[in-house]
Amino acid sequence: MIVGIDLGTTNSLVGVVDSGFPILLADAAGKRLLPSVVHWPPAERGAVLTGEPARRMLAVDPAHTIASVKRFMGRRPAELDPATSGQHPLATGPDGSLAIGLGSDFHSPEAISAEILKQLKRTAEAALETTVDRAVITVPAYFNDAQRQATKRAGELAGLTVERILAEPTAAALAYGLDKLSESSKVAVYDLGGGTFDISILELNKGVFQVIATSGDTRLGGDDLDHAIVSWMESRLAPARPAEAAPRLREAARDAKEALSAREEVEILLPFLDNRSNHRLTLTRTEFESLAAPLVKRTRAHCLRALADAGITDPAGELDAVVLVGGSTRIPLVRRFVAELFGKEPDISQHPDEAVALGATIQAGMLSGALRDLVLLDVTPLSLGIETFGGLMNVIIPRNTTIPAKAGELFTNAVANQPSMLIRVLQGERELARDNWDLGQFTLAFEPGPKGSARIGVQFEIDANGILRILARDTHTNTDRVLEISSAAVNVEDEAVERMISESVDHAFEDMNERIWTEAKLKSDELLPAVDAAFGLIGDQLDPAEKGAIETAAAEVRAALSADPHDAPRLKRANQTLDEATETLAAMLVEQAYARALAEKKTLPT
Ligand code: ADP
Ligand code: MG
Repeated sequence: MIVGIDLGTTNSLVGVVDSGFPILLADAAGKRLLPSVVHWPPAERGAVLTGEPARRMLAVDPAHTIASVKRFMGRRPAELDPATSGQHPLATGPDGSLAIGLGSDFHSPEAISAEILKQLKRTAEAALETTVDRAVITVPAYFNDAQRQATKRAGELAGLTVERILAEPTAAALAYGLDKLSESSKVAVYDLGGGTFDISILELNKGVFQVIATSGDTRLGGDDLDHAIVSWMESRLAPARPAEAAPRLREAARDAKEALSAREEVEILLPFLDNRSNHRLTLTRTEFESLAAPLVKRTRAHCLRALADAGITDPAGELDAVVLVGGSTRIPLVRRFVAELFGKEPDISQHPDEAVALGATIQAGMLSGALRDLVLLDVTPLSLGIETFGGLMNVIIPRNTTIPAKAGELFTNAVANQPSMLIRVLQGERELARDNWDLGQFTLAFEPGPKGSARIGVQFEIDANGILRILARDTHTNTDRVLEISSAAVNVEDEAVERMISESVDHAFEDMNERIWTEAKLKSDELLPAVDAAFGLIGDQLDPAEKGAIETAAAEVRAALSADPHDAPRLKRANQTLDEATETLAAMLVEQAYARALAEKKTLPT
């Protein structure tokens, strides 16, 4: 089992594919979003906290608590701008690597991120009741090699083998099901999270997304909107309040902002500002939008740049989809802005703050095999069947059948005293066995008997993993033979499928003629010896005119048989004439056989 993880700047999530469905896992409190905050006190003062409890410690014990550690991943001290380091001291290790001071202890960004990953691992293990040690983890598209390596190390420190590092926009596109778009489709992924903005343009090539352009601002996100609301509140609240109220003001601002995505107006209660009075403020959506507009507009230049880098001049015409990612894209103003900028309504079918984790989960499911059937194998690309007597293709599961599938047919022996039957498994759309592809073969032995006496059931079953099982059973003796064919039944190159289908169309007429011919020839091969045998037995009892008619008809069948090229309709007609001409002969045969049987019958004692 492999889990998918969105290790976000603000929030992190974990998911897994369960019985074919990607699901995100909730912690004991029912929460899927884990705030990416770590509280790491000195060992003697208690355990490391993550998530909501750690976030509360941001206000109480900021020295030992850190948010947005993702900004430090894989960075060297010299690369960091002062805004990133925040209130924590930084140190440089002997190898030039970065360490972040939490109180007097220094920890690497990987070790801190590992605490978030350990928490997600615990959530997954509790939900799934099994150990989890493999993961797909997402990173921003612009992460360089050092940043990706650091993310991988964080996973390893948390006891996870990182099976793949996946770009966030690619994950989001997977979550929105965009891998089902046609070849070389282009999509834009607009990701406005808590502290970062990313715009990516992807192109789908052979079912895989490539990031063809990316731009963004690592200092722009929902936090800025919270600050804007705090400033607005401060302008309305005089005089100055105690400094320790700041984190709570921010929290009130965030709650108000999130509520305004669904409502037109919110009441903000600030009972904690002083001991004497309660403060109550009303913020309308319109007012909020005027605060937010300048910030949202800052994403515009990045979008235009990414479009230009991707060589897109007409986004409405050239983009096949625009998808929204990141909690801040729940804001109606942001949605309107995106629709207007790209000239296209964004796809809002997924929860924007869960899309990346969902995509990571789908990727994890594809890697572990849990999703193979869902993603890759939905229908049989070509018909499956067996060769029957005369070299014809007998289809058992037609092409485009949804998988899993099961179908069967009953066959018999074409020749008397045949000791076994050869089951040749074929794939393709052609009428003649030899023009289709051979997937495998086996023989089933049965008790020799007259022609048509055997009863052989052949069943084809394709399971969800694309494994084809062929079961052949002699229904008289109940002996079974089973053949398993791994994935050849469903994993066929697109080009080969196309070739097979176009060939079958090109040859449709001759193929059909060949099938009718072969079937007619089987019938002639049965009729002619039967007529000869009957003539030998009772030919002299026949009316000469009738005998002449039979001989003419039989001669026509022989002539049709040796005609070149094959004339299937002629042979079919000849068979029919012969069949009709022998009606009296056949009736006489039956009567005589009946009379013989009666004569041989022993009388029972009375
Ligand atoms: P990240 O990718 O940075 O880890 P998320 O995608 O989880 O973060 O986005 C977090 C941001 O989304 C926060 O600023 C949060 O306040 C904001 N957010 C979440 N829900 C809403 C909402 N309903 N309306 C507006 N903003 C929201
Ligand atoms: Mg994110």
